Amino acid sequence: MACQLTVEAVRYRYAKGFEAVAGIDLDMGPGILGLLGPNGAGKSTLMRILATLARPSVGRVLWNGVDIARTPNALRAELGYLPQDFGIYPSLSAREFLAYLAAVKGLPPARAQSRIEECLGLVGLGDAADRRLGDFSGGMRQRVGIAQALLNDPRLLIVDEPTVGLDPEERLRFRHLMTDLAGDRLIILSTHIVSDVEASATALAVMAKGKLLFAGAPEPLVAQAHGHVWEWLVPESQLAQARTQFTISSSLRRPDGVRLRVVAARAPSNDAQAVTPDLDDAYLWLLARDGVR
Ligand code: ADP
Repeated sequence: MACQLTVEAVRYRYAKGFEAVAGIDLDMGPGILGLLGPNGAGKSTLMRILATLARPSVGRVLWNGVDIARTPNALRAELGYLPQDFGIYPSLSAREFLAYLAAVKGLPPARAQSRIEECLGLVGLGDAADRRLGDFSGGMRQRVGIAQALLNDPRLLIVDEPTVGLDPEERLRFRHLMTDLAGDRLIILSTHIVSDVEASATALAVMAKGKLLFAGAPEPLVAQAHGHVWEWLVPESQLAQARTQFTISSSLRRPDGVRLRVVAARAPSNDAQAVTPDLDDAYLWLLARDGVR
């Protein structure tokens, strides 16, 4: 079954005149697309357009060749969407909540019951299915969110900033879940945290200020940062100044100072060493080069 999403010259302007999506072209097929970008980049706006909740002001989006603004139901039947502000009913159990949403989504009752059990199993909530959602941790609620998005076995799964508020263990679990779910569907996962998509994304798109700065496999993005990442040991006394002067990808305190990883066109100092970039560095380099940071 086809699973191709094409974004053509899409722009979106909010009523007050602010252009949150300022001309995006993007081609997506099966796999996990990590949509990266700082807060305010326009990721949520783009995802709402892809989920048919907003119509592009200009341009169009095609799902398997069909314009989703003209024929939204073709996509909606195959869409699972987990918005950023997903609300739950605290007094319902996970199973009751999914039963309610299955009814809202129009799943045939005969199919709903077995599908609810499947989805609970997929997200690892089988044992907690009868507990009140109000007693769930952030990570468990997020998994309920994924379970509801999976009810119709979607070909396109859109999850908007799914790891916000999760602790490190829940974050890791969530990443594994995404990898398990990928299969032959398209998952679009937005985040401002590189490590959320580092291990799982087959493709990356980086947005800033409504525009696309990069789209493609992770490797060419990393390659762009070659020769622009440095390790530099600075004395504690110079740390504050270095922070204002350079884009710092990470820092590690040591007895003799702080080892900084700096992303910069040229060496920040004569004693800085060039190092092999990772995806975090490459993302920062892309934003820094574009003047976003
Ligand atoms: P992201 O998801 O990358 O953080 P958003 O799509 O939420 O970005 O927002 C992009 C820009 O659009 C931001 O500058 C934000 O303030 C603006 N924006 C978002 N929602 C609205 C709205 N309802 N009305 C006006 N501006 C908005």
